[in-house]
Amino acid sequence: MNSDDTAQSTRRLRLAAAPGGLCVVQDLLNSASMPAASIPDLLADETSAQAWLDSALRTWQEQTGRTAPRITIGVDDAAALRDLRSHVRGWITGDADDGTPHPLEADITFHDGRLTYAPRHDGAVAVASLIHLETLLASHTGTLRRLKTCKNPACGGAFYDRSRNGTRVWHDMKTCGNALNLRASRARRRHSPLPGEAAEATP
Ligand SMILES: [Zn+2]
Repeated sequence: MNSDDTAQSTRRLRLAAAPGGLCVVQDLLNSASMPAASIPDLLADETSAQAWLDSALRTWQEQTGRTAPRITIGVDDAAALRDLRSHVRGWITGDADDGTPHPLEADITFHDGRLTYAPRHDGAVAVASLIHLETLLASHTGTLRRLKTCKNPACGGAFYDRSRNGTRVWHDMKTCGNALNLRASRARRRHSPLPGEAAEATP
């Protein structure tokens, strides 16, 4: 797909959109701030959250071929969306494995030989249902395991791993991969004994 169709949050990390409806889950994760790269939180307030959502829904509509729901973000919704982002990130990283149930408010319809869903209500509740359903669908089709967050703790950018063996860990090898590998090799050099010095005894 054309990178111009990729939603604002994912495009600012120079990443391609995850396939199908999963793109909206990726876009939620990539709305987070990255202070080290001066990247702001797109869910900081309701105005920026609405702009984030409109952009994410355009990509979702483009990729799913379905009409995006109209969702209006209210005053209290930005904080709820940040919470949603945290728990979805925990699902992707495996850190949220605590069995917490998350309610779903949606209508499933069968029409023209096709099953579709529509989130109920408005604001953060509707966004949460959309995100939860797309995450669930992707977990069943096997695409969810390829949606990953960058191993660099200062980054956490969400990318779709299209590598043949699915072992990619960095959102960008040049920035996050190289920076951390360089730091690790410097640390190893610092801790390795100089020539002529006795190596530290290890238990
Ligand atoms: Zn990264």
